Amino acid sequence: MNKNTAVYPGSFDPITNGHLDILHRGLRVFDRIIIAVARNSQKNPLFPIDERVELIRRAVGNDSRIEVDTFDGLLVNYVFSKGARVILRGLRAISDFEYEFQVAQTNRTINEKIETIFMMTSLPFSYLSSSVVREVAVLNGPVDSFVPEIVKEALEKKFAERQALPREEKKL
Ligand code: ADP
Repeated sequence: MNKNTAVYPGSFDPITNGHLDILHRGLRVFDRIIIAVARNSQKNPLFPIDERVELIRRAVGNDSRIEVDTFDGLLVNYVFSKGARVILRGLRAISDFEYEFQVAQTNRTINEKIETIFMMTSLPFSYLSSSVVREVAVLNGPVDSFVPEIVKEALEKKFAERQALPREEKKL
Protein backbone atom coordinates (compact mmCIF):
# COMPACT_ATOMS: atom_id res chain seq x y z
CA MET A 1 0.00 0.00 0.00
CA ASN A 2 1.30 3.41 -0.94
CA LYS A 3 -0.07 6.47 0.83
CA ASN A 4 1.73 8.78 -1.54
CA THR A 5 0.05 7.53 -4.68
CA ALA A 6 -3.23 9.01 -5.93
CA VAL A 7 -5.46 7.83 -8.73
CA TYR A 8 -6.85 10.64 -10.90
CA PRO A 9 -9.82 9.10 -12.74
CA GLY A 10 -11.93 10.54 -15.54
CA SER A 11 -13.03 10.37 -19.15
CA PHE A 12 -10.38 12.77 -20.49
CA ASP A 13 -12.22 13.13 -23.82
CA PRO A 14 -9.90 14.91 -24.52
CA ILE A 15 -7.42 15.98 -21.82
CA THR A 16 -7.56 19.76 -21.23
CA ASN A 17 -5.37 22.36 -19.52
CA GLY A 18 -7.81 22.13 -16.59
CA HIS A 19 -6.95 18.43 -16.14
CA LEU A 20 -3.24 19.21 -16.43
CA ASP A 21 -3.53 21.93 -13.81
CA ILE A 22 -5.05 19.49 -11.29
CA LEU A 23 -2.42 16.89 -12.20
CA HIS A 24 0.54 19.23 -11.68
CA ARG A 25 -0.85 20.70 -8.50
CA GLY A 26 -1.60 17.16 -7.34
CA LEU A 27 2.08 16.31 -7.76
CA ARG A 28 2.89 18.91 -5.11
CA VAL A 29 0.93 16.79 -2.67
CA PHE A 30 1.46 13.23 -3.94
CA ASP A 31 4.68 11.54 -5.06
CA ARG A 32 2.94 9.62 -7.79
CA ILE A 33 -0.30 10.04 -9.73
CA ILE A 34 -1.99 7.40 -11.86
CA ILE A 35 -4.23 8.96 -14.50
CA ALA A 36 -6.94 6.36 -14.96
CA VAL A 37 -9.14 6.65 -18.04
CA ALA A 38 -12.55 5.06 -17.53
CA ARG A 39 -13.43 2.53 -20.21
CA ASN A 40 -17.13 2.49 -19.42
CA SER A 41 -17.91 6.12 -18.60
CA GLN A 42 -19.40 7.35 -21.87
CA LYS A 43 -21.26 5.57 -24.60
CA ASN A 44 -20.18 7.82 -27.42
CA PRO A 45 -16.78 9.33 -26.81
CA LEU A 46 -15.24 11.63 -29.42
CA PHE A 47 -11.84 9.97 -29.03
CA PRO A 48 -11.60 6.18 -28.66
CA ILE A 49 -9.91 5.15 -25.42
CA ASP A 50 -6.56 4.34 -27.02
CA GLU A 51 -6.39 7.81 -28.58
CA ARG A 52 -7.30 9.45 -25.26
CA VAL A 53 -4.52 7.52 -23.51
CA GLU A 54 -2.04 8.43 -26.25
CA LEU A 55 -2.97 12.14 -26.05
CA ILE A 56 -2.54 12.09 -22.26
CA ARG A 57 0.85 10.36 -22.58
CA ARG A 58 2.04 12.95 -25.07
CA ALA A 59 0.60 15.85 -23.06
CA VAL A 60 2.29 14.82 -19.79
CA GLY A 61 5.61 13.82 -21.41
CA ASN A 62 8.17 11.61 -19.79
CA ASP A 63 7.72 11.89 -16.05
CA SER A 64 8.35 8.90 -13.80
CA ARG A 65 5.87 10.28 -11.25
CA ILE A 66 2.97 9.93 -13.71
CA GLU A 67 1.40 6.70 -14.94
CA VAL A 68 -1.37 6.60 -17.54
CA ASP A 69 -3.70 3.62 -17.41
CA THR A 70 -7.28 2.56 -18.14
CA PHE A 71 -9.77 0.84 -15.87
CA ASP A 72 -12.99 -1.09 -16.11
CA GLY A 73 -15.65 -1.62 -13.49
CA LEU A 74 -15.63 -0.20 -9.99
CA LEU A 75 -13.12 2.59 -9.45
CA VAL A 76 -12.47 1.68 -5.80
CA ASN A 77 -11.51 -1.86 -6.81
CA TYR A 78 -9.09 -0.48 -9.37
CA VAL A 79 -7.58 1.94 -6.83
CA PHE A 80 -7.14 -0.87 -4.32
CA SER A 81 -5.56 -3.15 -6.93
CA LYS A 82 -2.97 -0.47 -7.69
CA GLY A 83 -1.98 -0.31 -4.02
CA ALA A 84 -3.30 3.28 -3.79
CA ARG A 85 -5.74 4.61 -1.20
CA VAL A 86 -6.57 8.05 -2.60
CA ILE A 87 -8.82 9.22 -5.44
CA LEU A 88 -8.01 12.71 -6.72
CA ARG A 89 -10.81 14.77 -8.28
CA GLY A 90 -11.10 18.37 -9.44
CA LEU A 91 -13.96 20.68 -8.47
CA ARG A 92 -15.11 23.52 -10.66
CA ALA A 93 -18.44 25.28 -10.19
CA ILE A 94 -20.92 24.44 -7.45
CA SER A 95 -22.64 22.26 -10.05
CA ASP A 96 -19.81 19.70 -9.77
CA PHE A 97 -20.39 19.37 -6.04
CA GLU A 98 -23.68 17.44 -6.01
CA TYR A 99 -22.43 14.71 -8.32
CA GLU A 100 -19.00 14.45 -6.72
CA PHE A 101 -20.58 14.28 -3.27
CA GLN A 102 -22.76 11.33 -4.32
CA VAL A 103 -19.90 9.47 -5.97
CA ALA A 104 -17.50 10.05 -3.07
CA GLN A 105 -20.07 8.88 -0.50
CA THR A 106 -20.88 5.81 -2.59
CA ASN A 107 -17.22 4.94 -3.04
CA ARG A 108 -16.65 5.29 0.69
CA THR A 109 -19.58 3.01 1.42
CA ILE A 110 -18.08 0.38 -0.88
CA ASN A 111 -14.57 0.72 0.53
CA GLU A 112 -14.02 2.95 3.56
CA LYS A 113 -10.25 2.63 3.30
CA ILE A 114 -10.19 4.79 0.20
CA GLU A 115 -10.39 8.57 0.56
CA THR A 116 -11.41 11.04 -2.15
CA ILE A 117 -9.42 14.28 -2.15
CA PHE A 118 -10.71 17.31 -4.05
CA MET A 119 -8.66 20.13 -5.48
CA MET A 120 -10.34 23.39 -6.40
CA THR A 121 -9.90 24.47 -10.01
CA SER A 122 -7.58 27.35 -10.83
CA LEU A 123 -9.53 30.43 -11.84
CA PRO A 124 -8.52 30.46 -15.55
CA PHE A 125 -9.88 26.92 -15.94
CA SER A 126 -12.97 27.23 -13.78
CA TYR A 127 -15.37 26.93 -16.73
CA LEU A 128 -13.26 24.57 -18.81
CA SER A 129 -14.47 21.06 -19.55
CA SER A 130 -13.81 18.50 -22.27
CA SER A 131 -17.36 18.97 -23.54
CA VAL A 132 -16.85 22.74 -23.95
CA VAL A 133 -13.64 22.01 -25.86
CA ARG A 134 -15.47 19.57 -28.14
CA GLU A 135 -18.23 22.08 -28.79
CA VAL A 136 -15.81 24.89 -29.67
CA ALA A 137 -13.69 22.58 -31.85
CA VAL A 138 -16.65 21.25 -33.85
CA LEU A 139 -17.49 24.86 -34.76
CA ASN A 140 -13.88 25.48 -35.81
CA GLY A 141 -13.37 27.86 -32.89
CA PRO A 142 -9.96 28.53 -31.28
CA VAL A 143 -9.05 25.98 -28.59
CA ASP A 144 -5.46 27.19 -28.04
CA SER A 145 -6.00 28.38 -24.50
CA PHE A 146 -7.99 25.28 -23.51
CA VAL A 147 -5.82 22.33 -24.54
CA PRO A 148 -2.17 21.44 -25.22
CA GLU A 149 -0.96 21.78 -28.84
CA ILE A 150 -1.08 18.05 -29.60
CA VAL A 151 -4.73 17.88 -28.49
CA LYS A 152 -5.52 20.88 -30.67
CA GLU A 153 -3.97 19.07 -33.65
CA ALA A 154 -5.88 15.88 -32.85
CA LEU A 155 -9.17 17.83 -32.66
CA GLU A 156 -8.48 19.49 -36.01
CA LYS A 157 -7.73 16.14 -37.57
CA LYS A 158 -10.81 14.53 -36.02
CA PHE A 159 -13.16 17.23 -37.28
CA ALA A 160 -11.53 17.33 -40.71
CA GLU A 161 -12.21 13.58 -40.95
CA ARG A 162 -15.79 14.20 -39.84
CA GLN A 163 -16.34 16.85 -42.51
CA ALA A 164 -15.86 14.03 -44.98
CA LEU A 165 -18.54 11.86 -43.31
CA PRO A 166 -22.21 11.76 -44.28
CA ARG A 167 -24.33 14.21 -42.24
CA GLU A 168 -25.90 11.67 -39.80
CA GLU A 169 -22.49 10.42 -38.60
CA LYS A 170 -21.24 13.87 -37.60
CA LYS A 171 -23.02 14.15 -34.23
CA LEU A 172 -20.86 15.00 -31.19
P1 ADP B 1 -15.59 12.58 -15.54
O1 ADP B 1 -16.45 12.13 -16.69
O2 ADP B 1 -15.21 11.48 -14.60
O3 ADP B 1 -16.09 13.80 -14.83
P2 ADP B 1 -13.61 14.30 -16.76
O4 ADP B 1 -12.52 13.92 -17.71
O5 ADP B 1 -14.66 15.24 -17.25
O6 ADP B 1 -14.21 12.94 -16.25
O7 ADP B 1 -12.97 14.94 -15.46
C1 ADP B 1 -12.03 14.24 -14.69
C2 ADP B 1 -11.73 15.02 -13.43
O8 ADP B 1 -11.09 16.25 -13.76
C3 ADP B 1 -12.98 15.41 -12.64
O9 ADP B 1 -12.66 15.36 -11.27
C4 ADP B 1 -13.23 16.84 -13.06
O10 ADP B 1 -13.92 17.56 -12.07
C5 ADP B 1 -11.80 17.33 -13.20
N1 ADP B 1 -11.71 18.49 -14.09
C6 ADP B 1 -12.01 18.55 -15.40
N2 ADP B 1 -11.83 19.79 -15.88
C7 ADP B 1 -11.39 20.55 -14.83
C8 ADP B 1 -11.04 21.94 -14.65
N3 ADP B 1 -11.14 22.80 -15.66
N4 ADP B 1 -10.64 22.33 -13.42
C9 ADP B 1 -10.60 21.45 -12.40
N5 ADP B 1 -10.91 20.15 -12.49
C10 ADP B 1 -11.31 19.69 -13.69
